[in-house]
Amino acid sequence: MAETLKNFDLIVVGSGPAGLAGALFASERGKRVLLLEKENRFGGKIPLSGGGRCNVTNVLSPEEIARTFGKNERFLLPALRNFPPEEVRRYFQSRGVEIEVTDGFHCFPRSKKAADLVKALLDHCDENGVERLSNAAVDKVLVEEGAIKGVHTGKKVFHAPNVLLACGGKSYPKWSGSELGYILARQAGHTITPLYPAMTGVKCIEMWTGECAGISLEDVKCSIDLPKEKLSCRGELLFTHEGISAFAVLDLAGRVAELLTQHDTVPLKLDLFAQISPEEWRRIFQTWRQEKGKTSAGKLLSEYLPKRLIPHLCPAPETPFARFSGADTGKLLENLTALTLHAHGVENWHKAMVTRGGVELKEINSKTMESRLIRGLYFAGELTDLDGPCGGYNIQWALSSGALCGASIR
Ligand SMILES: Cc1cc2nc3c(=O)[nH]c(=O)nc-3n(C[C@H](O)[C@H](O)[C@H](O)COP(=O)(O)OP(=O)(O)OC[C@H]3O[C@@H](n4cnc5c(N)ncnc54)[C@H](O)[C@@H]3O)c2cc1C
Repeated sequence: MAETLKNFDLIVVGSGPAGLAGALFASERGKRVLLLEKENRFGGKIPLSGGGRCNVTNVLSPEEIARTFGKNERFLLPALRNFPPEEVRRYFQSRGVEIEVTDGFHCFPRSKKAADLVKALLDHCDENGVERLSNAAVDKVLVEEGAIKGVHTGKKVFHAPNVLLACGGKSYPKWSGSELGYILARQAGHTITPLYPAMTGVKCIEMWTGECAGISLEDVKCSIDLPKEKLSCRGELLFTHEGISAFAVLDLAGRVAELLTQHDTVPLKLDLFAQISPEEWRRIFQTWRQEKGKTSAGKLLSEYLPKRLIPHLCPAPETPFARFSGADTGKLLENLTALTLHAHGVENWHKAMVTRGGVELKEINSKTMESRLIRGLYFAGELTDLDGPCGGYNIQWALSSGALCGASIR
């Protein structure tokens, strides 16, 4: 087997935002870095993200971002404080990529091209002398006496006293997602928490959603309706052949997938017009009864709802509204403000944008991102047991955790 003679201080496995940030921050400190990427292109999932525009971060503080990740808040703070959202924006601006805050919150490259971010990071790595190889899938980590010694890529062995695993998650296998990172982490003795597809659509037992496939509603609040579950999400909702999707459910899917290991179905409550309260609906019904009583309920509702959806939500759509019974009005109000659907699954890995689960956080030192088990082994990005909601949180975490590794290696 051919051995490389070159000496590197750090080998980075994976060239997504986590790997690129790791390579960059280490090379800025004069470290000799080798970047290995299994695909024939660099950048990981950045080019796919945000519909090709990449929602690279947002305007929140490190503390606010960390809080969004729930119980793991404290774990994220050292990395986020070391390379916070504001610094990320400043960094890209300094490398000629204008970042715009589109709606007072989300940050995208002004060019609307995610590829510009990849180019900026790669050019900077090149300037710093980072060596990079594509089509180089690492299939083994070399560990001796509790310390990392290098990696193996099928044909070659590369030696270094530090290795960063920044292999991303399982999702989007057609692009670059794979289980390789988890396999490598396990080889080194690390625990992988259960993996679930997250940030994706939800499949429901109510078959009628399929008849409404393609219909979307603008501002829906969707909540998991189980005791002690507080998670809810608000935004556009899309009916699909198997259930529901889009922003109103994306951030719930990972939790739904977890809950489905304990429940046959997970009830979801949908407020179909989050900006209209039940009291307002009652007032609207009152006006309809008094002023448009001869008009059918279905026709009146068509001001608000697409026609195909009405028979599934309105008990007697042909009935003139004045003759609508109290029970019918109650049912209609319930369907509009607290419609229950039952999730029995989530979309598969091909559609899931992120992976829930990953390398057990207890086994990583959050101040450096170094393994607590193997000296010189580091983790960053989606491979760790962390996933954030939509809104630039995941790429920010990948950049911050990779940067902390780069800043920490000895
Ligand atoms: C469609 C889509 C849209 C998204 N939009 C956004 C968004 O707008 N904002 C946001 O914050 N997040 C978004 N995400 C999530 C975000 O892209 C990821 O969380 C982020 O890219 C993770 O970064 P990473 O560096 O950890 O991994 P990745 O970006 O997945 O990169 C990992 C890299 O490692 C390589 N690799 C894996 N194993 C090996 C190996 N053994 N040897 C060599 N190389 C290996 C892979 O080929 C890949 O290039 C989106 C995801 C998807 C799928």
